[in-house]
Amino acid sequence: RIENKMGIKGSPTCELTYKNAKAELCGSRRMGLIKYVMALMNGARLGIAAQSVGVSELAYREALAYARDRKQFGKAIIEFPAVYEMLSVMKAKLDASRSLLYECARFVDMYKVYDDIAKERSLTPEERKESKMYSRQADALTPLAKGMGSEYCNQNAYDCIQIHGGSGFMKDYACERLYRDARITSIYEGTTQLQVVAAIRHVTTGTYLGLINSYLENDVKPELQSIKERIRVMAEVYAKAVETVGKVEDQAYGDFMARRLVEMAGVTVMSCLLMLDAERNDSFRRSAEVYLNLAQAEVTKHAEFINTFAPERVDEYKVM
Ligand SMILES: Cc1cc2nc3c(=O)[nH]c(=O)nc-3n(C[C@H](O)[C@H](O)[C@H](O)COP(=O)(O)OP(=O)(O)OC[C@H]3O[C@@H](n4cnc5c(N)ncnc54)[C@H](O)[C@@H]3O)c2cc1C
Repeated sequence: RIENKMGIKGSPTCELTYKNAKAELCGSRRMGLIKYVMALMNGARLGIAAQSVGVSELAYREALAYARDRKQFGKAIIEFPAVYEMLSVMKAKLDASRSLLYECARFVDMYKVYDDIAKERSLTPEERKESKMYSRQADALTPLAKGMGSEYCNQNAYDCIQIHGGSGFMKDYACERLYRDARITSIYEGTTQLQVVAAIRHVTTGTYLGLINSYLENDVKPELQSIKERIRVMAEVYAKAVETVGKVEDQAYGDFMARRLVEMAGVTVMSCLLMLDAERNDSFRRSAEVYLNLAQAEVTKHAEFINTFAPERVDEYKVM
């Protein structure tokens, strides 16, 4: 049957069941799970990251248009700090998730180009090394772009309704549909919790820290220096938190802290990308500043939790 869904109603969904269907082996044996399924999932996850950016963008545009139009207490609601703060945070999350999406897609493009070249001739040792690096970076950024982009998309859809007030709860405005459409992005092609499972090895193996340090090697104009310095401090706090969690040999504790570490890596990477966007184009400056404030608060909050939490206390959270 066609499922009766909360959102994305323009895309019908049904379960497929194969019974005694003839099957043919695709590709090579023993490559199925590691190579083919992982490539399929990463491709699909990048697609959902893009879908999340699209929904986030519309949520921002709808909220902005309504805030300019709606008058309360004699002025447009966009003039209230509580409203313009919501809007600029929405824009910062939108720009951050789009930058991360593009960076991830760039890495995918780069290693795929090498894959294509390798079909024509063998790669030089330097090319093989570079191809491997891009492949690893794509593998690291995909769960971040999907996981964090989809959470931001949900948050932006929520704030879009909030800015519409009571009208947002009615079916008359696009924001109500957006709110329902956003919800699937953090669920299908692997829930956010599963993106954390995919991302955590890049926390422990240092892929994220390596990327952050390479971004920080870039020269930036004087007006972006303070942003760069603040990101450097965030990176240090993140590295320290990874070390603190890594010292404890307890799987449950490691899993319990994983999302915090992945989010710390994610917000630091996105801060770097927005800083570099602002270096290239001044129109990103505001989002870089606003996002950094948010990112710094997130990193501080998670570090505080990690530093003050005794590993044995994980049991306090166990629900049976
Ligand atoms: C509209 C729609 C379209 C879909 N389209 C497709 C499709 O085209 N093809 C397809 O194959 N599938 C499709 N799906 C399935 C979709 O990918 C899964 O529903 C989704 O990946 C979540 O898996 P699940 O429903 O089995 O949830 P579960 O795995 O049962 O998860 C339930 C909860 O447990 C948590 N959880 C589970 N495992 C872990 C873990 N190891 N660590 C931490 N937390 C965990 C999850 O985060 C979640 O909160 C679709 C689903 C929907 C709703």
